[in-house]
Amino acid sequence: MESLYNFLKDDFQIDKKVLDFALETEKEIKGTFDQIDKNSEYNQYKVISAMQKNKLSDVHFSATTGYGYNDIGRDTLEKVYADVFHAEAGLVRPQIISGTHALTVALAGNLRPGDELLSPVGIPYDTLQGVIGIRPERGSLAEYGVVYRQVDLLPDGSFDYENIKKAINEKTKLVTIQRSKGYSTRPSLTVDRIKELISFVKSVKKDVICMVDNCYGEFVDIIEPTDVGADLAVGSLIKNPGGGLAPVGGYIVGKEEYVDNAAYRLTAPGLGKEVGPSLGVMPALFQGLFLAPSVVAASLKCAEFNAKLFEKLGFKCIPASGEKRADIVQAINMNTAENVIAYCQGIQKGSPVDSFVTPVPWDMPGYDCPVIMAAGAFVQGSSIELSADAPIKPPYTVFMQGGLTWQHAKLGTLTALQSMYKKGLIKL
Ligand SMILES: *Cc1c(COP(=O)(O)O)cnc(C)c1O
Repeated sequence: MESLYNFLKDDFQIDKKVLDFALETEKEIKGTFDQIDKNSEYNQYKVISAMQKNKLSDVHFSATTGYGYNDIGRDTLEKVYADVFHAEAGLVRPQIISGTHALTVALAGNLRPGDELLSPVGIPYDTLQGVIGIRPERGSLAEYGVVYRQVDLLPDGSFDYENIKKAINEKTKLVTIQRSKGYSTRPSLTVDRIKELISFVKSVKKDVICMVDNCYGEFVDIIEPTDVGADLAVGSLIKNPGGGLAPVGGYIVGKEEYVDNAAYRLTAPGLGKEVGPSLGVMPALFQGLFLAPSVVAASLKCAEFNAKLFEKLGFKCIPASGEKRADIVQAINMNTAENVIAYCQGIQKGSPVDSFVTPVPWDMPGYDCPVIMAAGAFVQGSSIELSADAPIKPPYTVFMQGGLTWQHAKLGTLTALQSMYKKGLIKL
């Protein structure tokens, strides 16, 4: 232990007080860590089982170019994803740029002019607002005649069943359910709660498509939304399921018909899943999926660690430490802009990449206030790697997520604490 103290002091300027506080806190959450490891073990076996079932072999790791006809690597990856999610089919592509793109393709592929789209869990993630046309954007679903309806969660966070029932009508085609809170402070939805909501929606209208925005949720639980009635689950490969290795990509899994509809939109009507070259990224996508359960476990430990530390320091954390988690995001109400900035700068200091950069708040397009972002990532914008961001406005909530290894996540948290401690913002 003495050598660790000295090393952290010499190389990372961590005070002994900060380290002692962190190590003591780590001991207190051992029970939660054990549960995280158990889930991760189950999910690891789920992934290996799907790979074995599809006879994964090195022929699947080679690249195709051009049209990408007969790409057995790509087709096998899609079958593996479908099996991991217990779904009929999958669309998993490097041509899907992000989570927003994957959700756009799933929505636009399955909605037609005059159809209604319903969000029964309040306003969707920022970028989706432009896609749907809640915020006017060129090419939005609204411009194509898709009508959007929304029912907010009740003040206590529960579903407003009465108004959800009223909002569903003969035109309702698709219901979109966002699992993660995103940049809001509502609770994220556990798979059990998603199950309740889908059962209710289907009891009102049997043939409505239930789609879950699964971003940040994959492998947090041992079941996924597709295990509890979701017709589609959608996410980004530079979040949980890419395991930190995927350089790009998105996935859509679910009922074959709906996945195909999305594929006809991603490529072209008549082409669908038949085209799309894998361009050499297959090894990273397979191996990333293989690593994803343990990477998600590291991220969950980091989230839990931060929740416990900052609760002890008197800050409000969402979720609270020990609470059942539905995603890897930890929100901490930092109370002041100074705290937020010091925390994010500290997270950056612990990074393997760009540790010498000091993040500062800036006016980012699409936001109504300055935003600060800390990320020292191997893959640009990857938020399965340790990262933190915050809009600079009350209650000065910082959203932190990711951590490819627990060891790095812990170091990043130490450098964040140290940054606040050195400025006298926290007392130990
Ligand atoms: C990250 C995220 C998205 C998509 O974001 P991209 O940056 O486009 O990948 C959508 N919904 C939620 C809840 C997210 O967390």
